[in-house]
Amino acid sequence: HAKHQGRNAFAWFEPQMAEELHLRTELEDKIRKGVKAGEFIPYYERQIELASGRLTGFEMLARWQSPELGIVSPDIFIPIAEDIGAIAELSENVIRQALEDAKGWPRELTLAVNISPLQLRDPWFAQKLLKLLLEANFPPDRLEIEITESCLHHNVGQVRSLLTSLKNQGIKVSLDDFGTGYSSLAQLRSLPFDRMKIDRSFVERVHDDQDSAAIVRAIAMLGEGLHLPITAEGIANADILGELLKVGDLKGQGYYYGKPRPAGELAEWLAETVAQAAPCQGVSGRLA
Ligand code: C2E
Ligand code: MG
Ligand code: MG
Ligand code: MG
Repeated sequence: HAKHQGRNAFAWFEPQMAEELHLRTELEDKIRKGVKAGEFIPYYERQIELASGRLTGFEMLARWQSPELGIVSPDIFIPIAEDIGAIAELSENVIRQALEDAKGWPRELTLAVNISPLQLRDPWFAQKLLKLLLEANFPPDRLEIEITESCLHHNVGQVRSLLTSLKNQGIKVSLDDFGTGYSSLAQLRSLPFDRMKIDRSFVERVHDDQDSAAIVRAIAMLGEGLHLPITAEGIANADILGELLKVGDLKGQGYYYGKPRPAGELAEWLAETVAQAAPCQGVSGRLA
């Protein structure tokens, strides 16, 4: 609109732009310092086998505990951390903490972490991740990384060989936010994913919008045909869960099961798991 208001528009617009620029620069600075000061911490969201209600693991979601701003959402700080080249260090810090936390969980639970497309372009990424696992003495086959489709339109060949070497170490790879990006079905076939996660934007309307329901069903069928297990994210209420239970054998997560919590507040959820697992322990012990 400013364009159409002629010269005067600038007199009004300019201070605001300067202000925004100033805020942005300040935020960048706070993030850089925050990474060094250990202000980025993991929160955890439950991942559930929908049919049984069984907890299968947690997705780690980073939070910025800023002394000045309070708890800040990753939608704000991840893009900025990527822009200023701080994402790798930030990510390593929260993953290192998450591996320590996850070591205290029952052995059958997995840990999922989100990885930025920028990190995947680092030729040393696989080595760095394995080093973190080794230092924490955490079994690679309990770790899942989640990557988004935006990784895929950039040098698919390099992504493929990276994913292959991670998989050879036992690490699982999930395609996050499926349905919102640019991945072609051919890439789905040629890249070694272990799981697809249906984006929240489809899931959250599956109970009251026919188009969303059709998309969710189609993705579930695709997953079945490609032997790719599916996770539905953004299960916000019982109506959504009810619809998903009709769609197929899925895993899921969302506010219905609880909002993400810090490591110190998982005890109640972990206790449920131990209680559920207890009667079968003899059996799984024998099978292991
Ligand atoms: P994501 O990996 O797709 O994670 C799901 C997001 O949806 C989380 O937001 C989660 O809290 C939110 N969510 C789950 N269930 C519901 C629901 O029922 N209703 C609503 N309204 N929201 C729900 P969060 O924690 O704000 O994370 C946003 C995104 O930030 C994540 O999306 C992920 O892409 C990114 N992110 C988080 N941590 C990291 C990290 O350590 N590294 C990188 N590169 N990205 C991260
Ligand atoms: Mg994710
Ligand atoms: Mg997602
Ligand atoms: Mg997302």
